[in-house]
Amino acid sequence: MENSVRIRDLRRIKEYKFDTEGVETVTSKEQIATEKLVELCFDRFQQLASIDPTLPVIQRQNHIAYLEKCLKGLPEGYCTLDSSRPWLVYWILNSASLLKHRFSDTQLDRTVDFLKKCQSPLGGFAGGPGQIPHLAPTYAAVNALAIIGTPKALDAINREALIQFFRAIREPNGAFRMHIDGELDVRGAYCAIAAAKLSALPAEEFASVFEGTAEWIASCQTYEGGFGGAPDLEAHGGYSFCAAAALALLGRPAVCNLKALLRWTVNRQMAFEGGFQGRTNKLVDSCYSFWQGALVVIIQTLMASIDPFAKTSTTRPMFYSEALQEYILICCQRNNGGFIDKPNKHADVYHTCYALSGLSIAQHSEFTLEPRVIGHYANELLLTHPVHNIPPAAVSACYAYSSAAGSVPPSEGGSAEIEDIWDDDSERDN
Ligand SMILES: [Zn+2]
Repeated sequence: MENSVRIRDLRRIKEYKFDTEGVETVTSKEQIATEKLVELCFDRFQQLASIDPTLPVIQRQNHIAYLEKCLKGLPEGYCTLDSSRPWLVYWILNSASLLKHRFSDTQLDRTVDFLKKCQSPLGGFAGGPGQIPHLAPTYAAVNALAIIGTPKALDAINREALIQFFRAIREPNGAFRMHIDGELDVRGAYCAIAAAKLSALPAEEFASVFEGTAEWIASCQTYEGGFGGAPDLEAHGGYSFCAAAALALLGRPAVCNLKALLRWTVNRQMAFEGGFQGRTNKLVDSCYSFWQGALVVIIQTLMASIDPFAKTSTTRPMFYSEALQEYILICCQRNNGGFIDKPNKHADVYHTCYALSGLSIAQHSEFTLEPRVIGHYANELLLTHPVHNIPPAAVSACYAYSSAAGSVPPSEGGSAEIEDIWDDDSERDN
């Protein structure tokens, strides 16, 4: 069946290409070179679409086969990610769940066993067995266990030790280091808060561990409107997502300037390419489809929670959702499986996860029952929770586990509004 959502007129949008205004720079040359590659993809697509009007089509079975292969074993190029192994697991599991694919019980059981080996006796998870605990793999491992969602997976997290780990890396002002004596940035705060919510920390512990964290995060907002990794650093899409998602989970959006953040974020969508850049004057990259796309949805939801009559209501997303889908499906999809950052790059599981997550956000960013899907209706992915980036049903199950354990209930910290909106949708698809 053909879809009524039309793609842009790819001939007309050429007028949106970068204008050097007579001044060539290193970055303007890179931008123009990237636009040429994207233009080749669009031109080729137009020729193919004139033969087959159902295009673009997501190569679902090939992506699933790619993910199945990656969960069994990765090529040697991934050896540099030896200290990020729970991340690899999470990226693969989340990609598969977006594609409506569940690995076998045996594979998932083995995955839980592996993640348990990454858990440190000091609390938190390490990037691999025997390594030191670190907030980034802790976030990834907890997300992966939540996606698996079996009693064995949810029981695998040592919650008491996790609290001790959080206390060991917390600074007196509420900021978090990534590991003991490690670097301090907004990622740390987001990873800790997200893992704490899903891991059912008792409410009083949660309030105590994150005292001052919202104010510290707010101090990372820059003059541009986006957030840097720490105070006085450049605004960046990944850190801005972490900041807004963390403030949403803490129920403290009013500590930052949401209007300025919204203006900065929507201006990161590239007029010609349709995808997002991560920072001002940088190139388009498919992973920012999620970091920036979900960020817009989170900001709009937070603004609506403060003022339900705000012009930035959640009826329509304030980014061009169809253009984002075009960039992901036409320029970043590898037909034999996996997604790439931009044309001429290799596929990897990180970009596969965040391109698919961004595609899901773009399809479902309108708060109506009908998704906006370009190409064939079968291109529709399952929803992802915009704050946690796992299936909304997996978030609900973890929160339910949390409530049963007598710890942080869903309404704690005022974050119920975001969760409720996405839980309602999750019932439709999961
Ligand atoms: Zn990227």
